[in-house]
Amino acid sequence: MTVEQETRLLRSVPNRLFIGGEWVHASSGRTFDVVDPSTGASLTTIADASASDGLLALDAAVAARDAWAATAPRARGEILRGAFDLLQERAEDFALLMTLEMGKPLAEARGEVAYGGEFLRWFGEEAVRIGGHYGPSPEGTGRMIVTRLPVGPSLLITPWNFPLAMATRKIAPALAAGCTVVVKPAELTPLTTLYLARLFEEVGLPAGVLNVVTTSSAAEVSAPIIADRRLRKLSFTGSTAVGIRLLEQASANVLRTSMELGGNAPFLVFEDADLDLAVEGAMVAKFRNIGQACTAANRFIVHESLAEEFAARVTARVQELRVGRGTEDGVGIGPLINEAAVAKAVRLVDDAVSRGATVLTGGSPIAGSGTFFEPTVVIGVRPGSDILREEIFGPVLSIVTFTDEADAVAKANDTEYGLVSYAYTRDLARGQRLIESLQTGMLGLNVGVVSNAAAPFGGVKQSGIGREGGAEGIEEYLETKYVLTPNPFG
Ligand code: NAP
Repeated sequence: MTVEQETRLLRSVPNRLFIGGEWVHASSGRTFDVVDPSTGASLTTIADASASDGLLALDAAVAARDAWAATAPRARGEILRGAFDLLQERAEDFALLMTLEMGKPLAEARGEVAYGGEFLRWFGEEAVRIGGHYGPSPEGTGRMIVTRLPVGPSLLITPWNFPLAMATRKIAPALAAGCTVVVKPAELTPLTTLYLARLFEEVGLPAGVLNVVTTSSAAEVSAPIIADRRLRKLSFTGSTAVGIRLLEQASANVLRTSMELGGNAPFLVFEDADLDLAVEGAMVAKFRNIGQACTAANRFIVHESLAEEFAARVTARVQELRVGRGTEDGVGIGPLINEAAVAKAVRLVDDAVSRGATVLTGGSPIAGSGTFFEPTVVIGVRPGSDILREEIFGPVLSIVTFTDEADAVAKANDTEYGLVSYAYTRDLARGQRLIESLQTGMLGLNVGVVSNAAAPFGGVKQSGIGREGGAEGIEEYLETKYVLTPNPFG
């Protein structure tokens, strides 16, 4: 990638709010910088919305609501399909933009364009499959109709770690269902969402159906929208702490909510595992997105007979990972998102070591510009260590051991989170038992990535409420209406 390519791309990204089909300045005139985490330098400056801008965006979504709900499902689907097609043409631009604002290696950013795009295609197809049913009441005196209607204007709040996919995973089902939306992207990575809004504009999405407010004051902008009775749905992806606060706010108006929250994924390696496969899976489950994924394996729970060999093999692989700016060839690990993320990785490793763990490789921040942390392997992590309880959100692979299946399951479930687990075993019956005994919304059985637009993504316990993707994803944006009529035959 040349500097000219980067500059040209950044100039083509809108730097204003997108409200009612217009690109507008923040009413206060305020702006904020978007920073490249690999250099600490400002990439560009964009509009900084305040509460009144957020409410204008809601006004626009409310004004567009009825016409969009009345738009033929096929027409809604065609717009999503058009967006999918145009995204393919712009794939390199979207990938580079994510690498610049978030730091992930370009190859992974390309992967996210493919994954994020699939939600546009999948829900473009699902738009025409919003069903209902009709039939006799049990006593035969009536006819029961059950139909599905769009829930209404929706606020979509997204995180910084997957700037495209977390946006399309919400926007696509909402639009397919006939809902209009206000999107509030993360302050750290707003450019991808602005660029996506431009793409929707180009494929003919009517004004007001999709509105984007970028802001450095998330709570100030979102709270009045959530308090407004015209809003009918809140879909949030982010940390559990913020999710809980938003659920409290949403309760005042009994708002429909979807919550995709934090994780603390266990990665189980049983004594009968295919170790080659487990090492391969571990590298993806841990180091994809620089470890900054809600689905990132957070605790490697390995049978005591295999732990040393597993640790040696992953350590050898980790030592081959090249750290650097995501735009450079061969880089596998980019920067962490900011200084706070580096400080957290330092704290968690130091705490584990102070309680008796051993660092096999890495363990420290990398000096110089940008927020880089060495890819790290830690073994012998003791119970009670913070690293077993908190989301690491960094390239640190931490290993504990177990003695038997009951011990493995108890350790895996010893967390308030329940998003995803991974398990490696050749024993089919054990695999089937794990499906029922692991307390997570998803399970990777002999695989290290589960995400797929066609599958219901989501967690149990404090990892969230609701599902995104799959046939289930559109349900989050639909209300069920039941109608009773008399038996027409008397
Ligand atoms: P975060 O701090 O909770 O922020 C998420 C979003 O909420 C951002 O847009 C943020 O805006 C906004 N926000 C923050 N405080 C708010 C408030 N008081 N009121 C309204 N909005 C508020 O999370 P993050 O650091 O961006 O993302 C990392 C977290 O997301 C991790 O816990 C990760 O596990 C989770 N995650 C979950 C999934 C899933 O599908 N389950 C997927 C990806 C990430 P600002 O950026 O302006 O602060």
